[in-house]
Amino acid sequence: MISQLPIISIIAPCLNEEQSVKPLVENLLLIINKMSAMGIAHADSYVILVDDGSKDDTWANIEHLHSKYGNKVTGVKLTHNVGHQKALIAGLEHALCRKCDAMITIDADLQDDTECIINMTQHFHQGYDIVYGVRDDRRSDTRFKRNSASLFYRLMRHFEPTIIKNHADYRLMSRRATEMLMQYSERNMFLRGIVPQIGLNSCEIQYSRNPRVAGKSKYPLARMINFAVEGITSFSIVPMRMILILGIVFMICTIAVTIYVISAILIGRTIPGWASMMLSLWFIGSLVLIALGIIGEYVGKIYIEVKHRPRYFVEKTTEDFGSPDK
Ligand code: UDP
Ligand code: MG
Repeated sequence: MISQLPIISIIAPCLNEEQSVKPLVENLLLIINKMSAMGIAHADSYVILVDDGSKDDTWANIEHLHSKYGNKVTGVKLTHNVGHQKALIAGLEHALCRKCDAMITIDADLQDDTECIINMTQHFHQGYDIVYGVRDDRRSDTRFKRNSASLFYRLMRHFEPTIIKNHADYRLMSRRATEMLMQYSERNMFLRGIVPQIGLNSCEIQYSRNPRVAGKSKYPLARMINFAVEGITSFSIVPMRMILILGIVFMICTIAVTIYVISAILIGRTIPGWASMMLSLWFIGSLVLIALGIIGEYVGKIYIEVKHRPRYFVEKTTEDFGSPDK
C-alpha cells in the first residue's frame, strides 16, 4: 500500500507535434487535477515532454507551456531525432532524477485515451508495478495500419511470446520497474519486448484509440518496416537459427534428390553430367547453409552477451514483511 499519494510523471515523446502539445498538456493537467481531487495522485504530479529533434515549433510551444504552468510541465530537448523508443527512455531517465513514484508514457497526439491514466493509477494503488494499455479496437487506424500491425504482433509473438498484443507504449510503470528497465544497457531498446521481461506484478487495461488530434503519423511504411525489423532483430536470434533449420531441411531434401537421381539413372532417363550436377548443387547448398547456421549460433551468443542484460530481478524478500518475532 502507498501511504502518501503517489506523484505521477506523465511522459510524452514529441516529433513535430507543434499543434498537439498544447491540447495534450491541457488534457493531462485536467486528468492530474481530477486524480488529485479523487485522492489517488499527488497534486504535484507533472508532465514531461521530450522533443525528439523536431523541426517545427514544438520546442517553442513546450517552453511556452512551461512558462505558463511552471514545474507541472517540463521539457527535455534532444539534440537530434533519435526515434520514439529512445525519446521515451530519455523521458523516463529524466523522471527518475525527479521526485516521482510512477511513470506513464503516452503518445503526444492524443490517440491514447487520457482518461485511462486514472484507471492505470488505480491499478497502481492495487499493487501493480506495470499496467499495460491495450487497444481494444483499431477502428481509428487505417485498414493498412491495422493489417500490418496484426502481422507484426503475430510475427513478434512467434519470436518473443511475452510481447503483449495491441499494446504500444501507453503504460504505467512504478519507479522500481523503471529502475529495473534502466538496467538493460543495450543501445537499441525495444520497450514493448523488454518491459514484459522485467516480470513484476502487471496487468492490462483496455482502451479505444482515437484519431490523431493534429499532424500526421511519424510512422510511414518505410519507418514501420524498420521498426518491425529492429524489434525482431533486437530481441531474438530466431531468424539466425532459421538458417540452420533451413540447412537441415535442405540436407533432407538432398537425400530425396539422391534417391530421385539414382532412380533416374536406373531407368536411364538422364544425360551425362546431370546426376553429378544435381547432387553437388543440393549437397553443397545445404552444407553452406548449415555452416552459416552454426556460425550464426555463435554470433547469436555473442549478440546476447554484448547486451549485458541483467540476469534477474528480486521482486521481494521475506525481510520485506518484517521478521515474525518483531
Ligand atoms: N515520435 C518521436 N520520435 C520519432 C517518431 C515519433 O518522438 O522519431 C513520437 C510522436 O511525436 C508521437 C509518438 O512518438 O508522440 C508516436 O508516433 P506516431 O503518432 O507518429 O505513431 P503512430 O501512432 O502513427 O503509430
Ligand atoms: Mg499516433
